[in-house]
Parts: sequence; structure tokens; C-alpha cells
Amino acid sequence: MLHLALRPCIISLVVQDSIQILQTQGYRVTKPRRQVLEVLKEAKEPVSPYDIQRLLRQQGKYLNHVTIYRILDLFCRLNLAHKVLSNGGFVKCTLGSKEGCHRFMVCRCCGVLREFVDEELCKKESKSAVNLGFHTEYHLSESSGLCSDCYRKRFGE
Ligand SMILES: [Zn+2]
Ligand SMILES: [Zn+2]
Repeated sequence: MLHLALRPCIISLVVQDSIQILQTQGYRVTKPRRQVLEVLKEAKEPVSPYDIQRLLRQQGKYLNHVTIYRILDLFCRLNLAHKVLSNGGFVKCTLGSKEGCHRFMVCRCCGVLREFVDEELCKKESKSAVNLGFHTEYHLSESSGLCSDCYRKRFGE
């Protein structure tokens, strides 16, 4: 009961954090941006722009695809949201304004996501790039496999 009562507060608190990041970066918190933020916060799994449109429609709201794509593009640039490479869907960032490249480990069985930052991994990737005479601006990578629960279910203890 307590858990249920607290949940809406937690969600709006996270939306509030993202709104603050938008504002400090000099972006206006328009109604469409707030609506997409709220859909991302409530989504249980990665959502496509079509999913976002459908979920908003269920609440009697309408945004066109171009608007949704532009908002997602902005959110990804600000690290408020990320694209999950293996399924193309978008998720809210779980690390807040943490510096570095945010990456995911994705369970191919249950779909659970673990977001992390690994500075050493970034350094290694940048070094590989330098060795090839390449100047890296950011890294995009993701690990696919089984989470510990799914691994245990499949292969025993
Ligand atoms: Zn993130
Ligand atoms: Zn799993």
C-alpha cells in the first residue's frame, strides 16, 4: 500500500530532474517535450516513436512523428534518453547527469537493461581509434547476453 502510494511521487520527481537538465541547458520545457518525457518515464521497456504516439493517443494527446523524432534526438544529445541499439527503442536515462558514455547490457531473454559508465572502456576505445589515426567524438556500444536470473534459469546454479 505504501509502495503504491509513493510511486506517482517518484515518477514525477524523475521527470522534474529531466526538466531541470533541459532548463539548465537553455531549452524550453514545451508541452510536447514534457509529454514525451512522461511517456519515457512510465514505459516499462524501450519504446519506438510509434509506441510513443500510440501511448499519448490513449491519453487523448496527439504529436506527429517529426516532432517525436526531434524531441528524442534532443533528449539523446542531452543524455536524458538513449537508443537501445539492439532493438531500436528509446529509454529514459537511469544515470542522471553522470559524465561519460552511457552504455547498456541487454538481456536477450527477458529484455532487462543495465546502464553503466566505464571510463576505462572509453579510454581503450579511444586508444584503438588513435592507433588507426581516428579522432573519436563519442562511443556507441552495447552488450547482449543473459542477465544473471536468465542465466541461472537456463544453466542452473
Ligand atoms: Zn544514461
Ligand atoms: Zn534476463
